[in-house]
Amino acid sequence: IIAFDRVTKRFGALTVLDDFNFTVAPGEKVTLIGPSGSGKSTVLRILMTLEPFQEGTLTLAGMSYQQPNGTGPFKAGERHLRQIRSHVGMVFQSFNLFPHMSVMRNVVEAPVRVLGLSRAEAECRAVDLLALVGLADKKDHFPAQLSGGQQQRVAIARALAMRPRVLLFDEPTSALDPQLVGEVLSVIRSLAHEHDLTMLLVTHEMRFAREVSDRVCFFDKGRICEQGAPDQIFTNPQQPRTREFLASVL
Ligand code: ATP
Ligand code: MG
Repeated sequence: IIAFDRVTKRFGALTVLDDFNFTVAPGEKVTLIGPSGSGKSTVLRILMTLEPFQEGTLTLAGMSYQQPNGTGPFKAGERHLRQIRSHVGMVFQSFNLFPHMSVMRNVVEAPVRVLGLSRAEAECRAVDLLALVGLADKKDHFPAQLSGGQQQRVAIARALAMRPRVLLFDEPTSALDPQLVGEVLSVIRSLAHEHDLTMLLVTHEMRFAREVSDRVCFFDKGRICEQGAPDQIFTNPQQPRTREFLASVL
C-alpha cells in the first residue's frame, strides 16, 4: 500500500534520503527505529505529503506521484496530492489539536469539511471514536483542560475520523510524562489489532515496538540498514550498526 521507489530527499546540501526504497503491505504494522536525525520523520512527512522530494516515485494506495521536477507521468497536482493525502492520517509528537475547539469539534471538523459528512453523522461517528480512545466523557472539554495523554488520544480519534487506510505515528508518546505513556500505547495497541489498517510507527518504545509490529526497520543515514521480524531484530541483529544502536537504547 506504500512504496518508495528510489526516492531522494535533500534539504539544501544535506541528503536525508538517498535512493530510498521501502514498501509496506496493506494491513502491515511496521516500526521505524534509528538514531536522531536519520530521517524517520522525513519518511512520514513525505507520506503525509507535507514534504516534497527531489527524485523517485511514491505510491500510496495505488496512486503514484513524483515531484514537479520529476520526469515521469505522475506530476503531483494539488488535487492529486489531496487525493493521496486522504488515505493517510498522522499523529504527531506534539498533539497539534485545535486549541479553540472542543474535543468533539476537533474530531468532526475535518470529516465535515473534507469528506462532506453532515455534522450529525460526523458527531455520531465521533462519539464512537471517542469511546474507542476512552474519552467519551470529555467531548465538551477543550484541549487545555486535558492531560497530554488525553490530548494525544483525541489526536488519534481525530486521525481515525478521516478513515485513513494508513495511519502514521511519529513518536506519539515522547512528549508525555512517563505515567501517561501507557494509556496512549494501549490505544495504539488496540488499533494494531485492526486487520485492515496499515500502521507505520516511529517510536523509541522498544518493548512496545516488539509487541505490536509485524516488522521492524532499523533506519540509519537515510537507508534501511536492517529489517525483519521484531524478535529477530531485537534478539539477533545482524548488522553492527543495529547492535550498537540497540545497545544504546535498551
Ligand atoms: P529524530 O529521532 O530526532 O526525530 P529523525 O530521524 O526523525 O530524527 P528527521 O527529522 O527526519 O530525523 O531529519 C533528518 C535530517 O533532516 C536531520 O539532519 C534534520 O536536521 C534535517 N531536516 C529535517 N527537517 C529539515 C528542514 N525543514 N530543513 C532543513 N533540514 C531539515
Ligand atoms: Mg523525528
